[in-house]
Amino acid sequence: MLARVKDVCKRNGLLILSVLSVIVGCLLGFFLRTRRLSQQEISYFQFPGELLMRMLKMLILPLVVSSLMSGLAALDAKTSSRLGIITVTYYLWTTFVAVIVGIIMVSIIHPGGAAQKENTEESGKPIMSSADALLDLIRNMFPANLVEATFKQYRTKSIPIIKSNKAASESTTRRFIIYGVQDENGSNVQNFALDITPPPEVIYKSEPGTSDGMNVLGIVIFSATMGIMLGRMGNSGVPLVSFCQCLNESVMKIVAVAVWYFPFGIVFLIAGKILEMDDPTAIGKKLGFYAITVVCGLVVHGLFILPMMYFFITKKNPIVFIRGILQALLIALATSSSSATLPITFKCLLENNHVDRRIARFVLPVGATINMDGTALYEAVAAIFIAQVNNYELDFGQIITISITATAASIGAAGIPQAGLVTMVIVLTSVGLPTDDITLIIAVDWALDRFRTMINVLGDALAAGIMAHVCRKEFTKDGDEVPLICETK
Ligand code: ASP
Repeated sequence: MLARVKDVCKRNGLLILSVLSVIVGCLLGFFLRTRRLSQQEISYFQFPGELLMRMLKMLILPLVVSSLMSGLAALDAKTSSRLGIITVTYYLWTTFVAVIVGIIMVSIIHPGGAAQKENTEESGKPIMSSADALLDLIRNMFPANLVEATFKQYRTKSIPIIKSNKAASESTTRRFIIYGVQDENGSNVQNFALDITPPPEVIYKSEPGTSDGMNVLGIVIFSATMGIMLGRMGNSGVPLVSFCQCLNESVMKIVAVAVWYFPFGIVFLIAGKILEMDDPTAIGKKLGFYAITVVCGLVVHGLFILPMMYFFITKKNPIVFIRGILQALLIALATSSSSATLPITFKCLLENNHVDRRIARFVLPVGATINMDGTALYEAVAAIFIAQVNNYELDFGQIITISITATAASIGAAGIPQAGLVTMVIVLTSVGLPTDDITLIIAVDWALDRFRTMINVLGDALAAGIMAHVCRKEFTKDGDEVPLICETK
């Protein structure tokens, strides 16, 4: 018995440590909240967690570039286009299913009811219109400067401009209603003036700009195109492909060492976030129901629908597969970033689930960029919740519009914390809902973001497992990329 426990601990040591670190992080966070630490003390306390985030982010660029270039170069044109088409179609399909699950959940639970708006602070004002957001998505696919794309994205900003209003600025043209209070004899004892001058008009002007954070979409498009071209170059492309393979292997070796720091970092990431969060008792009832709706939807999609799809397509046990990627799911929970989780997802898929590395190298980076089932589900729920709060009846056409735009908005969201909150403007404006009402859901978004990121990562990993099964004939078991290129030419 003892020997068996020892064996389990030895084989799953890192996983057990990661699970423990989530529990310890929660307990420590709630305990320290009672100590009322200052902002500065909290920021010092968060330092080990910040280091974890920095390590993960450091690995994204070399990993995405090397995996896509070497992965696609290894495939002949027919195989890569088949894999590409099946993967993208599957991603779009599962995202759409997630949106439908969200719509069903929010219609059944109806968290918005006839609620009063609970919080209308200015803090979360959207910074772009829906057309700008869609154009930005396309612009980011083609970065004008590759070096800049490694640390910045293109983002149109809306600058508020106060249109000078003559009536408002000149006292002679101001308009008042004068009314008075009379005594019992009918003579005025006091007059009041009500200023009815129209307020100055605020218009928004779109200005090009950039925002911090890697343009992963642009880098994915560039690296994938380079990989396909390298594959067509035959032997002359081999040096660069070998370089990318070497780079990929070495990044994975760094990941293998860095993972031992992660349980420690997770404790401080989670406890630090709990220290920062607003008083949970201040969250209104409607907002609580909204959060429950999103979590229920994520559970249905992540624990039933996606695993069932995996089971029906591969005829393999999804629980075994999910157990293999548990560590990546915990990192997603701790970091709220599917891009930052990418190195660990790779490691889990290759080492625990034995997915063909050439498939993982293509399916995972593309998934981390365009496949966000959790985000799509949340965007649909949030938009309908905002409609419910405003007593706004959505007709069938508008529900369809929400499902299509939520799918598009999730594709446009970057794999970074709370990116979905920004792209939700696309969904709200598509059906004429007030974009300012995004502020209604800000209070709970940081927590929901962690759960939806877990589902985003789960969706990508299961997709890699499914693609490995569907495309198994094209891929020999231990295929090595460089010889494969030589063979196809
Ligand atoms: N944080 C999510 C991710 O990285 C994106 C989002 O929904 O905000 O996958």
